[in-house]
Amino acid sequence: MFCGLFESHTGICAHCEDVLPRNDNFCCRCGQPMDAPSTGASPCGACIAKQPVFDLARAPMRYEFPVDVALKKLKFNRKLQFAPPLARLLEPVARQSFSGCDVLVPVPLYRWRHARRGFNQADELCKTLAKLTNLPVLLTTKRRRATRSQSGLDAAARLKNVRSAFVVEQPVRFRYPLIVDDVITTGATCNELADALKQAGAPRVGVLAVARSSAL
Ligand SMILES: [Zn+2]
Ligand SMILES: [Zn+2]
Repeated sequence: MFCGLFESHTGICAHCEDVLPRNDNFCCRCGQPMDAPSTGASPCGACIAKQPVFDLARAPMRYEFPVDVALKKLKFNRKLQFAPPLARLLEPVARQSFSGCDVLVPVPLYRWRHARRGFNQADELCKTLAKLTNLPVLLTTKRRRATRSQSGLDAAARLKNVRSAFVVEQPVRFRYPLIVDDVITTGATCNELADALKQAGAPRVGVLAVARSSAL
């Protein structure tokens, strides 16, 4: 899916697998890439200043070439065949960091954005991840209103844009939902959804995305 040159049953050839921008040094809480090698125990400045609502967020990749290009193609060029290989990158993290999670929650799109795009990339990732992990998928979360695309907004604007954007339509019976998305930028969207899930009864909430960019 990255080079278009070599065949692979996983969708990612061994050459590309070797050079993927892995997110190996990250904040222990929000998962955002950090410069200094971390021991896996230190939170970033943003998490020290204000604890996120979600309990743990992880992303196996940094939002850099070629992962950024693949995620844009999935979303904007309907490359739905990219979703299963990307979801397979999530599986080991789901098993290692979120072994207690009992349900997957794709970040919902507002209904007309969903209708116009024809699919939700988070749903597509969850389809494969659900098969690989045997976890159910929770589909009772909705976007309350149309939020602007987060692209091109700074951190403060992103936060304001998604505030109270989500509603969970039924009480959550699960103990530890795992929010799944394609990319985390500031974490504002996932934080709002985590808040809605906790208000609906979830004691803990995790977040898992394919890629994480450094919050600005
Ligand atoms: Zn390749
Ligand atoms: Zn952090």
